[in-house]
Amino acid sequence: MPTAAVMTPRQLYERLKNVRAGSLVCQYSLKKCEELVPLINEINALKKEKGAVILVHSYVSPEMVYGVADFVGDSYKLSRDAIKTSAGTIVFVAVRFMGETAKILNPGKEVLVTADDPGCTLADAITAQDVRRLRKEFPGYAFVCYVNTTAEVKAECDVCVTSANVYQIVEKYPSDKIYFLPDKFMGMNLKNEMQRRHVNKDIRYFSGTCYVHEEYTGEQIFKVRSEYPDVKIVCHPECNAEVVANADFVGGTEQMLEYMRKATAKRFLMLTECGLSARLQSEFPDKELVGSCTMCKYMKSNTLESILRVLKAPQERERVRIDEKVRVRALKCLEEMFKYAEPSPSRKAACE
Ligand code: SF4
Repeated sequence: MPTAAVMTPRQLYERLKNVRAGSLVCQYSLKKCEELVPLINEINALKKEKGAVILVHSYVSPEMVYGVADFVGDSYKLSRDAIKTSAGTIVFVAVRFMGETAKILNPGKEVLVTADDPGCTLADAITAQDVRRLRKEFPGYAFVCYVNTTAEVKAECDVCVTSANVYQIVEKYPSDKIYFLPDKFMGMNLKNEMQRRHVNKDIRYFSGTCYVHEEYTGEQIFKVRSEYPDVKIVCHPECNAEVVANADFVGGTEQMLEYMRKATAKRFLMLTECGLSARLQSEFPDKELVGSCTMCKYMKSNTLESILRVLKAPQERERVRIDEKVRVRALKCLEEMFKYAEPSPSRKAACE
């Protein structure tokens, strides 16, 4: 999603006028766009001058998605985009573990994170020391980590997964004993899905949660379905098993977007972060989102001001640095993911 060199308030407003996700703060008037555009143009000019590329996660506020992003997506898509870029500096508008993933893949590049609070309740739930302890407790298990983990944790694991490829990778991975971390809901959903697919694996999991997705309940779904019988319920696999069992579609952020793009239905309940809902409202104005969404305070601590400040003069805590030995081991874990996430030859043939 390359941004124009100089953006006008009208251009920004055209992208944002349909956004209704979250509170009034997330709604955009032409006047609000007039206030935002000088900052956006200053960031885009500075980005060019510094030879930087800006990667923006779909969960951040839409003025960044449509104003300054060179690439937009979920963590898997952005990690692939990070490999493709020839820019010397990668500015990651998301949370810290995503910046670490970019650095693992691009050790020669400067990677900067712009969030004032770049945490994540999943990535912060487990340490490398915890994984070493669990390895002793569960010998013979393959350790599968969600991408929402630190570089140190990835370095201790066998293969990384994302919400988009977790089922596919665990099914294919050559081990009958799987320890999944850190998300307990994704672990439960993984176990249920493997049973549904008649894949006989012993699956254990850790106790972390995403504080945004754990909010959703089956009761919310039943209420919305009774009010709107034609609604399609779309959820992220970080939601609990009752939510997942009652949804029409379960998938990662980019898969949800694709589902909505292709669906003939007109009304949706999206059980995910408000940033994605905002993106969907901007890109599919003829489709209606019902119910409410939930905001991630970490993602929302990225602002146009923080991006400009980091581009101008990054502080040490905003530069991503990873010990080289840790990076090499974490890279192996990510490379295993890329290997197992590739479509099988027959599936490839079917797509061509
Ligand atoms: S939405 Fe959840 S998983 Fe994503 S960054 Fe926020 S706390 Fe972490």
